[in-house]
Amino acid sequence: MTAQDDATEQTTVVVVGAGVSGLMAARELHRRGIDVLVLEASDRLGGRTMSETTALGSTVDLGGQWIGHGHHRLSSLVDEFGLTRYQMHTGPMPGLIDRSRRLSAVSPAVLMAALALAGVEVLSRTGVPQRWNDKTVDSWLRRVPGRTARRLLEVIAAVSWTADLDRHSVYAMARMIRQQGGVLTMLSTKGGAQDSLIVEGMRGLADGFAAELGSRIRLGHKVVKISSDESGVTIQSTAGEVRAAKVIVTVPAPMARSIAYQPPLPPERARFADGTYMGSVYKAIAVYNRPFWRQRKGGELIVLDGPGSGVFDTSPPDGPGHLCVLVGGPAARQLDGLSADERRSAVLEPLIGHIGPDVLEPVGWHEKSWQTDEYVGGGYMALPIAGALDGLLPWSFEPVGNIHWAGTETASDHAGYIEGAIESGTRVAQEVAQALST
Ligand SMILES: Cc1cc2nc3c(=O)[nH]c(=O)nc-3n(C[C@H](O)[C@H](O)[C@H](O)COP(=O)(O)OP(=O)(O)OC[C@H]3O[C@@H](n4cnc5c(N)ncnc54)[C@H](O)[C@@H]3O)c2cc1C
Repeated sequence: MTAQDDATEQTTVVVVGAGVSGLMAARELHRRGIDVLVLEASDRLGGRTMSETTALGSTVDLGGQWIGHGHHRLSSLVDEFGLTRYQMHTGPMPGLIDRSRRLSAVSPAVLMAALALAGVEVLSRTGVPQRWNDKTVDSWLRRVPGRTARRLLEVIAAVSWTADLDRHSVYAMARMIRQQGGVLTMLSTKGGAQDSLIVEGMRGLADGFAAELGSRIRLGHKVVKISSDESGVTIQSTAGEVRAAKVIVTVPAPMARSIAYQPPLPPERARFADGTYMGSVYKAIAVYNRPFWRQRKGGELIVLDGPGSGVFDTSPPDGPGHLCVLVGGPAARQLDGLSADERRSAVLEPLIGHIGPDVLEPVGWHEKSWQTDEYVGGGYMALPIAGALDGLLPWSFEPVGNIHWAGTETASDHAGYIEGAIESGTRVAQEVAQALST
């Protein structure tokens, strides 16, 4: 053996990435008695999920947080790990805030926006012609009459998909709506995609996985190269080399560009990275002693002022008050150019007219700009660039030799969500276990 061989660790399966999909895959393999090693580039677990503890002792989620209606895999894991689920506090309809005023639900602008959304819903059900993959959402929006209706649709689209609307096709939008169960499910809180939350935060999942996997997870191991030969794979990371029979890559294609493959990936696989980009999303949670807005006009809003945001009352059942703000697309990137104080003012000041000046006095403030995360690179998901068909969800997970693929983007059910990450992790573990046994 050479000195280099001595330094090479051996295992059966390497999982690249300790997001929910990677941890789920590793747990499933570990439970089957297969030796597995998870290599994670960053110094934390969870990937696009991330929780923090507030000054008042509660937990907030800066990444994925909602358990959508029908997300049964996630619900089962929550139960299995003994976590506490609660339904989000919600009213009949979010307040729509434009120039500090609340828009009436029957104003011409709101009716026009509703009509446009209904049209998109019909398109998503009847099937949009593929040639509309060149037509951008931005160009479609420009044809909607009325500045306020257009702005309302723009904010809804940016918060829902975190896309750059001039790079997002109408075809992709309609497909995503279909996959997300329709416009109503996609936008709804109770009974929709934003149904419930976890008191302990999504880190409860990562902690649960870590308790089972222990030292099989390595943080600070950025994978830079995967070399394949007939008998297996060699995975080179910034912290050393591992030899395995199989490797599972869970990093979404735009972020996996930094991994070199030897031999190179076939063109149909390599094209994913060219046709996709990570969405941009900024998320903040303002923490208050109590959810005081419930005595006023409520804390669920679509705000057209400032950067344009979706605001949600994510407070846990026994308090304190958590006001969650989401900004998507280019507006999220623009916030990156501001100082921390300016950013906080930019997202909270537009709420004064509705919630009151107390909104500017949170006892705690938690924020994350996902597009600046070195290893995650954005969220909620990787998006297809208008015109490219390869990046449309769900992505193919056809193995390339001993390289297998997972990640929420490869899920056939709820791609883009935590539910999809769990589905893909379970599927790939089964796929790899089967391949190892033949
Ligand atoms: C702000 C935000 C809000 C969201 N809200 C919701 C929600 O409410 N409900 C919901 O269901 N979903 C939500 N999502 C989406 C959800 O979080 C994701 O679908 C899910 O977490 C993706 O998991 P994953 O394992 O597929 O990918 P990831 O979590 O991205 O995991 C990939 C991992 O690979 C690591 N990595 C990258 N490069 C390398 C490398 N070279 N070597 C080793 N490791 C590497 C990354 O650090 C990361 O940990 C949200 C996402 C964001 C960002």
